[in-house]
Amino acid sequence: MSEIKTLQKGEKFAHASVGSLKGFEGKQFVKDATGATSCEISFGSLPTGAAIPFFHSHRENEENYIILSGEGKFQVDDTVFDIAEGSVIRVATHSDRNIKCTSAEPLVYICIQAKEGSLGGYTMTDADVTERENLL
Ligand code: ZN
Repeated sequence: MSEIKTLQKGEKFAHASVGSLKGFEGKQFVKDATGATSCEISFGSLPTGAAIPFFHSHRENEENYIILSGEGKFQVDDTVFDIAEGSVIRVATHSDRNIKCTSAEPLVYICIQAKEGSLGGYTMTDADVTERENLL
């Protein structure tokens, strides 16, 4: 089981890491390590042939799964489809979901859980270009 560690923390930011995703195992939630207030993020990894041992549904939050490596199948209620590295799957509230790894390599993914319908401004409609000395 991989662990998440908070590496840096300031008044307005937090940096946490689960380390290399190549060897990532299990499931790791991020919110407590970063103090996130708008969403919960988790890293997940399933070995060959494995699926989550239960279906679940959310009452208020949608989930967005981002597949980082591997291949598998995804089920939403009674619909099943193939997924692979690069796939992004949004699952609405009140829907049963599960994910299974069908590749020889582990299926590694990120799941972002946020309140359905809460996204207001985004990208450049919520951004201001600011003046700052580049210290990088
Ligand atoms: Zn969930």
